[in-house]
Amino acid sequence: MAYDLVVRNGVVVDGSGMPRYRADVGVIGGRVATIGRIRESAREVIDAEGRVVAPGFIDGHTHMDAQVFWDPLGTCSCWHGVTSVVMGNCGFTLAPCAKADRHLVVRNLERAEDIAGEAMDAGIDWTWTTFAEFLDAVDALPKGINYAGYLGHSALRTYVMGERAFEQPGTADDLALMERELRAALAAGAMGFTTSRSPSHETPDRRPVASRMATWDEVRRLVGVMGEMNAGIFEIAGERFGDAAGLRGYHERLRDLAVETGRPITWGLFSRREDPTLWRTYLALLEETAAAGGRMFAQVHSRALSVVLSFKTNLPFDRLPVWNDLRALPLAEQAARLRDPELRRRLVEAARERDERKPIGAEARRGAYEWVFLMDSPQGPHRSVAEIAQERGVDPVEAMIDLALEREMNVFFVQPIANEDQDHALELIKHPRTAVTFSDSGAHVSQIMDASLQTHLLAYWVRAKQALTLEQAVRMLSFDNASHWGFADRGLIREGFAADLVVFDPDTVGPDMPEVAHDLPAGARRLVQRARGFSATVVNGDVVLRDGKHTGALPGRLLRGPLARR
Ligand SMILES: [Zn+2]
Repeated sequence: MAYDLVVRNGVVVDGSGMPRYRADVGVIGGRVATIGRIRESAREVIDAEGRVVAPGFIDGHTHMDAQVFWDPLGTCSCWHGVTSVVMGNCGFTLAPCAKADRHLVVRNLERAEDIAGEAMDAGIDWTWTTFAEFLDAVDALPKGINYAGYLGHSALRTYVMGERAFEQPGTADDLALMERELRAALAAGAMGFTTSRSPSHETPDRRPVASRMATWDEVRRLVGVMGEMNAGIFEIAGERFGDAAGLRGYHERLRDLAVETGRPITWGLFSRREDPTLWRTYLALLEETAAAGGRMFAQVHSRALSVVLSFKTNLPFDRLPVWNDLRALPLAEQAARLRDPELRRRLVEAARERDERKPIGAEARRGAYEWVFLMDSPQGPHRSVAEIAQERGVDPVEAMIDLALEREMNVFFVQPIANEDQDHALELIKHPRTAVTFSDSGAHVSQIMDASLQTHLLAYWVRAKQALTLEQAVRMLSFDNASHWGFADRGLIREGFAADLVVFDPDTVGPDMPEVAHDLPAGARRLVQRARGFSATVVNGDVVLRDGKHTGALPGRLLRGPLARR
């Protein structure tokens, strides 16, 4: 027997959570053919001596819907071991939508998810109207990794209702049309249906995104379509409540919807500093729903959700008039001006003003400098700006300016905006009804660097803290997520399974420092973050990355949802 690929001499961590063992892994026709001692020849060999061989990681929460058109590799996720992603979360998709109306769905995506409108205009060849046609377009694209997609409520509403989608609840006729398109999307392979009721999801003109204008009854009817068809997952970016009764009502609605439809319901969950026990009520909801006969799981992150601040990208002061003038200048000129004592005084003073503006999504926040950290290594521990300022006897904003000047403007700060407490983060990771996912990859491209959540789990929680075994962590990233999203032949190293594999050094694997890149269509800017420690990433049997570099192979596939596979 001749193999297409053999990964030799590695230590297999197979994704099941069972203990590691030494074996070669042989691949034929894109699938794992043999696990054992392989003596036969192979077209290609990866020497994995001293390395771990694991299933490729699966990320169930991304926004790569636009990016897939200009970046087939799925960066930065692919650099962190991810071989399959689910797009279309939080109600945001590019379909259904006719080309002529594309400004409507772009409006939903642009601000809420921080994907540059000009990048979308320049980078997307809009060939579809329906969701089924969109899936065919993604299917036809060259892809480095595997992609699956939900149908998003905001797109569905604007498709059916046009401008009215941003203003009112749907009529009976609107709903009938939405249900019809959702049925067709599921039949074509949509993973399910997503929506947002989150106050942090706004359009560039500060109106709610379209899905937020839906009544709960509209949501219920649409999830009910999945119940009738017995297929699909419902993902929701949830509401926020000022009072316990409102929160309880929302939880009961979610629980009842899970029970009445029989479909899995999922949402992101973070602990929050301003309300440090709220997340526990959501964990209790998971158990309550299960006890009532419904399916529900939460999506969690492996660390604090962190906004990245820098003079090269965004600072929390950018909108203040005196800052605005400065920040419009080229970076070298900003540096020169920042040495002017009079201007510095005005900048520091302006930055002290109270922040009246509510930040949207992952936009930077002003103030609270004990929660802004100097990021001088990928992993930390990081010192706070407040602490550094106190040591230097200067205002925190002045300390940020000085730190930037001392490093030729090459400095990053991180500002945790959720999951600040790492004990909470670990409890969320270890809860049996959570999935470690939620990179939001493809979104917030100039704001955060959460595409490294997988390598953070391995570097921080496994290696530095020893809070998880490598076997547990790999299982969370591969088999558990494959199970949640129904990828029946992925997420394990098993004979017959798709050969999505990562080969990495457990002693060095981890995220690198972020960098600023201008590699989006039309030159738009984003933060990129690479990883260290990976020797190879294999997708459907082909080596896509070797030592972090693209081999040129594009073996990724569209993964269609359950109805298209049946
Ligand atoms: Zn999202």
